[in-house]
Amino acid sequence: MSLPAPRRAVLIGTPIAHSLSPAMHNAAFAQLGIAASYGLRETDAAGLAAAVAALRAPEWFGANVTIPHKEAVIPLLDEIAPLAARAGAVNTIVMRGGRLRGENTDVGGFLWPLRLGGAQLDRWRVTLLGAGGAARGVAVGLLDAGVTQLTVVNRTVERAAALVAALDDARADILALDDPWLGGVLAASDLVINAIPTGLRDDDPLPLPAALLARLPDHALVYDLAYRQTVLLRAAAARGLATLDGLPMLVEQGALSFALWTGQEPPRPAMWAAAAAHRDAH
Ligand code: NAP
Repeated sequence: MSLPAPRRAVLIGTPIAHSLSPAMHNAAFAQLGIAASYGLRETDAAGLAAAVAALRAPEWFGANVTIPHKEAVIPLLDEIAPLAARAGAVNTIVMRGGRLRGENTDVGGFLWPLRLGGAQLDRWRVTLLGAGGAARGVAVGLLDAGVTQLTVVNRTVERAAALVAALDDARADILALDDPWLGGVLAASDLVINAIPTGLRDDDPLPLPAALLARLPDHALVYDLAYRQTVLLRAAAARGLATLDGLPMLVEQGALSFALWTGQEPPRPAMWAAAAAHRDAH
């Protein structure tokens, strides 16, 4: 009698060498005694179709998809979950019976620490810095959660305009990063989210000038999607504001992907410990 082949999952993207996902998912498989492994598949645009097609073989649970393929992968899949369609981005592929379904667990991952912390999103006004791939999922999650106002602020204002047009929601508007109105918007914000990938190095500039950070009300929460301490989070904490980094989001999007692949309750503490240990070691 032959044993079934171990199942597989993989991260598709580039650059991905420093990803925390293999440590996190392999810890989860080990914890639950699932014969499976999670690997990296460094993939450029030219290799994307082949990397996706390979997932149809029976041993695959599926894949995570990251920069720069979350949008480009959509036409390569057999079906798209409604949330992923609205977010315009797939970060998880689930293989069942040779068919590939695109899901988005970034949205649930993003909201999870806010819900855990008791955030009353349906009363909050929110400023979102950035209009890239992560920002669109964040915006969909915030509008679904009932925020009263969402201002998308971006260096390239046309990109923010395209994002807000796709959202098609009267609560969402746009502002350029250098617009003089930004101070007033921040003064009325309960939550600021940074989806601009800057601030990991001590000498990086703040995504918001310090004078603008000073306009935030004392109760405001500053949430940076980067899964490490950033210059923005340090400056906000120094001002006495509450802060949140992107590690809880990363772990929860992974936990939701794991549940979709395996049908099992994800072992979140083991996933958290593995992700944090891998982050701190690199
Ligand atoms: P992206 O698609 O490349 O978008 C980058 C955004 O940042 C764009 O709006 C871009 O503005 C802006 N930007 C980049 N450099 C800038 C600069 N020097 N000054 C001002 N604006 C700048 O990136 P993404 O995929 O959305 O990722 C954004 C961040 O979220 C990254 O830090 C990523 O690591 C993080 N993230 C975290 C998680 C998690 O699980 N914690 C998940 C996804 C993403 P322009 O339009 O003007 O170029």
